[in-house]
Amino acid sequence: MGFETEMRGIPEKYKKEVNDLIWKFLWDNKPNQIERNVCCLNINEGGMGMINIDNFVKSKQIKFIYKIINSEMDSWNAIGKHWLQKYDNKFGVDFFLCKCSDIKGLDIASIPKYYQDAIQAWNNFLGSCSTESKNDILDKNIFGNSEIKFNRNPLFFQSFLRNNIFKINDIWDKNNNTFVDNQTIFNRLDDKRNWISEWAKIKKSIPENFVKKLKSDDNEKIKKSLGLKIDSNLNIRNHNNKIIVPKELKLKNIQKEIRKPITPKCQFKWDTIYEKKFNWISIWYILNKIKCKQSIIQFQWKCLHNIVYSEYRLQKMGKSDGQCHFCKNEIESLMHLFYRCHKIKHVLDELKHIFNSIFEKNIVLVEENLIIGVYEGEITENLLLMNLVICILKWVIWKTRNYIKYNKSTYREAIVITNLKNELRSNIQMMIKNPEVRNLYNIRKLQLLLDTL
Ligand SMILES: [Zn+2]
Repeated sequence: MGFETEMRGIPEKYKKEVNDLIWKFLWDNKPNQIERNVCCLNINEGGMGMINIDNFVKSKQIKFIYKIINSEMDSWNAIGKHWLQKYDNKFGVDFFLCKCSDIKGLDIASIPKYYQDAIQAWNNFLGSCSTESKNDILDKNIFGNSEIKFNRNPLFFQSFLRNNIFKINDIWDKNNNTFVDNQTIFNRLDDKRNWISEWAKIKKSIPENFVKKLKSDDNEKIKKSLGLKIDSNLNIRNHNNKIIVPKELKLKNIQKEIRKPITPKCQFKWDTIYEKKFNWISIWYILNKIKCKQSIIQFQWKCLHNIVYSEYRLQKMGKSDGQCHFCKNEIESLMHLFYRCHKIKHVLDELKHIFNSIFEKNIVLVEENLIIGVYEGEITENLLLMNLVICILKWVIWKTRNYIKYNKSTYREAIVITNLKNELRSNIQMMIKNPEVRNLYNIRKLQLLLDTL
């Protein structure tokens, strides 16, 4: 009983309240600036690893179902097993409901609400798990499959199911690379009443890309699964194809699987502006590895997402004349503030000077390096160090700009350079103590940088 109460999850009303609270806190009660789905992405994907309560609840439900399926009959799971096996007699398949990724058309109204929700979460989970190889396709169930539909409805053909024609493997002739012939199907069915039309529907519903893959001779050895997989016996397997037992199934990994794939909008924006395809995987990865003060990393994160309140942005909202606080002459966009403004030219020269002395070669910096970072080629210690210095410089420019804006003072580049050196010093001194930094950076170069300041 206690277990079931736990699995009842959070009532909708409270779920919404908790959600609102978290998001209000995150954005200081101001309107959310970035889609929630993007915030819920991992840091390495451009998100902030925020919890998605919906997916958290679903992951618990999915684990719950997996536990019921994979346990001996006991008092805690008897009711659960009963509901999960509701269609087993009809179709002659164990845990039939759990082998479906779409049960539209099956009546589950008699099943208690929280089992219904859990089954649905499980069905969707099944649908989101990856298929990569020919064997994955052959192992797919034909019926109750979200990918195999006729007139947008999944198929449930009792006569096929009851005669063990259940997986694509059962209807595919591997020797001739085509569907098995009609006679074979006819012979296998006990109940032949609708067989012609049902067989035709099945063949029509198998997606073309499945058939294409089945006909191709893809080499299975080079394929490696990316995420979790569920085989036709309802075992969840990891990327090495090893079965994960229920108690080792991590909620975090389930959530990763059920999250909708989404790309942060800013990636399209910067790709369009600079007319190239940035390597965003590296960009987010590096941001996560810089390891300087959090406020600096967060600022760069906001720059990348283009949610910094530059005067240009405020102007678009009708809250500013848009003018740059440094030159008082042009519009303060991020590109202007960090690269184009003639007032920061000497600061950028200083940056190059720092780079040249630690890397002992002439580093060319273009606008996108100041906006996005330095990401060409392999991720090396030097690359990390360059991005560290650039992020700190941007933070210093931003703080100086804010100081001028709110104190109505004037811009002096000597101050920016002094602030940059101070900020670099305090960050590096802090970083050197962090054992993680010792594995990421070339400590000798960090020390060298300290000495040149
Ligand atoms: Zn300016």
